[in-house]
Amino acid sequence: MKGIIKIDRERCKGCSFCIEFCPKKAIILSDQLNLKGYFTADFQDNNLCTGCATCAVMCPEVAIEVYKT
Ligand code: SF4
Ligand code: SF4
Repeated sequence: MKGIIKIDRERCKGCSFCIEFCPKKAIILSDQLNLKGYFTADFQDNNLCTGCATCAVMCPEVAIEVYKT
């Protein structure tokens, strides 16, 4: 099973929970600031994501949507 995620950059506060809990290390912290001044999480579309949705469950800002492919 493969997956992709979409991160709503303007909801993200850069807390890194999704990065720490992703079992595939498919998310990194970007060097891009959003409008609120947070460095945001960024999906690495490297075919590692399984669509497990752990990142979405952990995100306190409900900023992540998961799609299974
Ligand atoms: S869905 Fe699972 S594998 Fe994919 S980025 Fe989120 S935590 Fe990682
Ligand atoms: S858990 Fe949510 S708010 Fe925290 S870095 Fe990831 S996407 Fe951003």
